[in-house]
Amino acid sequence: PLPGDIFPNRSNSAGVDLSDPLVREPLEKRLEELRGRHWNAAPTLSYGNPGEMAPITQPQDLSHEVGTRRDATEDEVRLAIGRGQAIQPGWNALGGEKRALLLEAAADAFEENTAEILSLCQREAGKTLPDAVLELREAVDFLRFYANEARRLFTGPFPLPGPTGEENRLTFNGRGVFATISPWNFPLAIFIGPAAAALAAGNAVVAKPAEQTPLIAALAVRLCHQAGIPEEVFQLLPGAGEVGQFITSDPRLAGVAFTGSTGTAQAINRTLAARDGAIATFIAETGGQNAMIVDSSALPEQVTRDVVASAFQSAGQRCSALRMLYVQDDVADEILRMIRGAFEALHVGDPEDLATDVGPVIDPDAKAALERHVARREKNGRSVWRRELPHSTIKGCFVAPTIIEMDSILDLKRENFGPVLHVARFPGHQLEQVMEDINSVGYGLTLGLHSRIDSTRRLVESMARVGNFYVNRNQIGAVVESQPFGGEGLSGTGPKAGGPNYVMRFATERVVCIDT
Ligand code: GLU
Repeated sequence: PLPGDIFPNRSNSAGVDLSDPLVREPLEKRLEELRGRHWNAAPTLSYGNPGEMAPITQPQDLSHEVGTRRDATEDEVRLAIGRGQAIQPGWNALGGEKRALLLEAAADAFEENTAEILSLCQREAGKTLPDAVLELREAVDFLRFYANEARRLFTGPFPLPGPTGEENRLTFNGRGVFATISPWNFPLAIFIGPAAAALAAGNAVVAKPAEQTPLIAALAVRLCHQAGIPEEVFQLLPGAGEVGQFITSDPRLAGVAFTGSTGTAQAINRTLAARDGAIATFIAETGGQNAMIVDSSALPEQVTRDVVASAFQSAGQRCSALRMLYVQDDVADEILRMIRGAFEALHVGDPEDLATDVGPVIDPDAKAALERHVARREKNGRSVWRRELPHSTIKGCFVAPTIIEMDSILDLKRENFGPVLHVARFPGHQLEQVMEDINSVGYGLTLGLHSRIDSTRRLVESMARVGNFYVNRNQIGAVVESQPFGGEGLSGTGPKAGGPNYVMRFATERVVCIDT
């Protein structure tokens, strides 16, 4: 049969139950022990003169170093791609089942190192403990889901139907060496997700993590090697944009899976297009200017909870996060009053404190860009609600959660990647206009709707040009396999991460016809 059973029986990770003191207390003790640990990230293959060493500091306390990053040199990039190319046919020939077992062993290794991973998510990326737990869960789910995809798709050949009188067979194979370039906001899950998919499909992988979060990536790669994935098959190349440039300009590369800003995706696309050699596959998951629409039939308490989660969880540093809230004018005063109440109750501070809801943003540049955006709106006379930052945040990159009143999404020029929410009021009869405005921005990642009216839901759904549309709930935290994630337009190329078409994009299709 052709690859069938898209969703074979498999369950997602249960995560870590932080509400159970028997789980939480030993974990907190272990995290305390890990607080002083110094970590390192270096290229998997170190060769010749070492490149630049950079300190990695905690976003919540810039005076505290978590570890060091040793950047890959241009020679090391070249060698890594060559090594990957040499081993890739063997990895491909191993077949889907053996690769699946190795990816599952890596998932087990991640779970066995829960405390180390959570500690790094907190110290290197400034994540709250609940966010860190979600991150680990998603990473493990990606590994196990793509392992299953390896089984489903790469254990062929699949006989093809048809009346040609010949024997026709289809197989799927890795394309060659794939590069993954990943972001700091999901330094484990989105580092390992695309890499696991590329590996599942039979590619060798060179992985460049974000310059801000190479330590979690280095731990992830080490655990994969310990689980039995050969070093040459999965290589780490830490560094900043320059290393990305060395990688993407190499003509031997078969493809790139990138997650990050739209501008960087466009630049990579140009670099790939300018190379000689094979035409590269390019998968990009980029930003969003995500909106939520709330009409007068919505339940105010539910709206309040979902708006606050969508805009301020993970300090707003998700590409799915809510940036632009539209509230129907006749309920706007009441709903905005309730949102403001919940907003005032958010606990901003040290992500290592379990009471914290909103931790730091990733680095001083991110903080400065967000501060500039808010200051500009204030200068333009917008009504702005800002939280006071507690004194304890002085050493880190904290941005006070902020709500800014606007007229329309059209006034937002770029993505503001942090705890800043924009709100506008709209008259009910202008719903279609609001949808047209949202679409005209060109991004297409997430959209939220709170409404109890079926015809409104149908209208918004029919007009929505987004990858993920959420009704009467928050609009973050897509679940692997159940809610494949990714956008369209300026938000990315697809296919969707954690969905049934993702791994195929990393593979070639070959047909063999035999006349008997
Ligand atoms: N998949 C995440 C979510 O659904 C967002 C990923 C990202 O921020 O890149 O919230």
